[in-house]
Amino acid sequence: MARTPSPEAEKLAAYRRKRDFNRTSEPAGSPSGGVAAVAAPRFVVQRHRARRLHYDVRFEIDGVLASWAVPKGPSLDPSVRHAAFHVEDHPIEYIDFEGVIPAGEYGGGDVIVWDAGTWEPGEPDPAAAVAAGELHAELHGSKLRGRFVLVRTGRDSAGKEQWLLLHKHDEFAVDGWDPEKHPHSVLSGRTNDEVLADPDRMWRSDLPAGEASIALKDSITAKGSRRPETERPSPAELAALDELPSSGQWQVFGRELRLTNLDKVLFPGSADHQPITKREFLRYTAQIAPIALPYLAGRALNMHRYPQGAGSKGFWHKELPGHAPGWLPSWQNPEAEEGESRTYLVVNEPAALVWAANFGALEWHAWTSLTDRPHQPTYALIDIDPGASTSWQDVLTLARLHRTAFEHLRVRAFPKVTGRRGIQIWVPISRGPSFSDTRRWVEQLSKTVGAVVPELLSWKWEVRDRAGKARLDYTQNAVNKTLVAPYSPRPAPGAPVSMPISWDCLDDPGLRPDGFAMREVPRRIAERGELFRPLLNADQQLPALD
Ligand code: MN
Repeated sequence: MARTPSPEAEKLAAYRRKRDFNRTSEPAGSPSGGVAAVAAPRFVVQRHRARRLHYDVRFEIDGVLASWAVPKGPSLDPSVRHAAFHVEDHPIEYIDFEGVIPAGEYGGGDVIVWDAGTWEPGEPDPAAAVAAGELHAELHGSKLRGRFVLVRTGRDSAGKEQWLLLHKHDEFAVDGWDPEKHPHSVLSGRTNDEVLADPDRMWRSDLPAGEASIALKDSITAKGSRRPETERPSPAELAALDELPSSGQWQVFGRELRLTNLDKVLFPGSADHQPITKREFLRYTAQIAPIALPYLAGRALNMHRYPQGAGSKGFWHKELPGHAPGWLPSWQNPEAEEGESRTYLVVNEPAALVWAANFGALEWHAWTSLTDRPHQPTYALIDIDPGASTSWQDVLTLARLHRTAFEHLRVRAFPKVTGRRGIQIWVPISRGPSFSDTRRWVEQLSKTVGAVVPELLSWKWEVRDRAGKARLDYTQNAVNKTLVAPYSPRPAPGAPVSMPISWDCLDDPGLRPDGFAMREVPRRIAERGELFRPLLNADQQLPALD
């Protein structure tokens, strides 16, 4: 994904060097009779996808960033007056922040440096101008140039100051100029989607400003696993799959795979869904494999096989068969007892997932631990497991209560729908705690949350003893117990996928636990980003619950 820096990025780098030079060459005090070489103050506009998309327009004033959130963004069009909301000053350290803000924290979402540069205040005392409700600014940015005005118009019902942002008629004015048509970062050349998919930094607003920007480069993916972003099946590879007869050799991801029964229907049709053949399932698998790989790499894979299709009864298959090709990455479980599975598939490259799919693994379940330390989980898992009489609204209630708990605990946690009826919440942790540690923690959390809605829940082990109620299944936190992997299809018409969602999606009345059909998923990811990606790099300890 390395891009040649855009001209804007070059300019910004040059600007930075200059800025640092100006700073260091600044005289400590203003010598009498001389004019201090004071660098021009900076501004930044960050495009921020949080609960709602907005642009944060920030001006350096007296060592902090005076800030406005502008939902529709700034425009060079002088006929446009966009609403702006005056928000609290931000620390100056935030000025070049680009990356992700954890879900559950203030402003959770992704941020790019959409524009940056210097500005000249129109008033001698810009802080006083802000207080008086009218700030004039001449911007020298990569995208934004010329004279802008911010004017206070009142307050909304919540007491937030309402302002308008407008561009004056000057030589930089451009009629019809739309900020959304200029979506790239001036820092990295990347879009919000691209930053979300592979963030370099995370902002932790609970830390002091000087420490809040965290580099995300030491990921927990296993050694030897390849970076997935570089590998997507090419259009030629996908076309070759379409052209194969019902069985044949397919070259993809640099491997040759023998595919069988390509025209067999694996997912039956229904009123809402066309039947899905194995060929189409393998096409999806190849498209999703580079995206799903980071959640599978370095982990034993338990395959849930349905060789006769989703309409038949599936079964667990853990042992890598002897006829499997030799290039498939595998792991020997040193603790396997006589008669237990010993050799596991490890999906360390995308072709391995395509192989598993061709082998009939409709569902992919990777271990919660990496093979090098199988007794140390990398996630704590909350499994909201609905009973026969649990409604979708009940599941949402339980998920929202967990959301509140995680916000309160300042723990970063990531929800996904199961593709069947439930919701899971994945909590990334630094390795160290045992499964019994994570199990106990999740049990304590879930019982605390569950105490709010005892009528919805049963803690009974056996399904028949639960009287149709939901269960918060903390026992999934155990070695060789697995939840379905992100982006895995489930065996039902339309191949509903276990899909990462944002916390805000819980408030979307259209959300359904099985509402993401396989055919829709690549487009959905392209539109909304890869919402689980921050989970891979979260270096987090579970706080004590008391
Ligand atoms: Mn914001």
